[in-house]
Amino acid sequence: MDFHYDDQNIFAKILRGEIPNSTVYENDHALAFHDIQPQAPVHILVIPKGAYMSLDHFAAHATPAEQAGFFAAITAVCAMSDVGSGFRAIANTRAHGAQEVPHFHMHILGGRPLGPMLAM
Ligand code: AMP
Repeated sequence: MDFHYDDQNIFAKILRGEIPNSTVYENDHALAFHDIQPQAPVHILVIPKGAYMSLDHFAAHATPAEQAGFFAAITAVCAMSDVGSGFRAIANTRAHGAQEVPHFHMHILGGRPLGPMLAM
């Protein structure tokens, strides 16, 4: 797989401080912020600070420290959010996954029953 990263994507601009965001957690390797168009009472995006365009790009090429930092952010977000009754983690990927922003991000959705995984 040839992973091409476009550094003009909106999350890259957030990481460079060019666009504001509503941060809920940050560490050396990851940033978590509220989705601008929430689809559930909890809708937080967790992104790595490194230039990775997708989950498979991140899984294949991120360093162990970057991967640990990313999952530390997931841990922190879940601990501070109303997801004790359950949540859904989604990583939309490329065209068939309906990925809009080509910087790897995990949606953390919860705060209400979310229904079936896919609408048919
Ligand atoms: P997707 O790439 O389809 O997995 O989803 C991208 C998500 O990014 C959508 O849920 C958008 O609402 C969200 N989004 C787009 N721009 C911003 C922004 N400036 N701040 C926070 N969330 C955003």
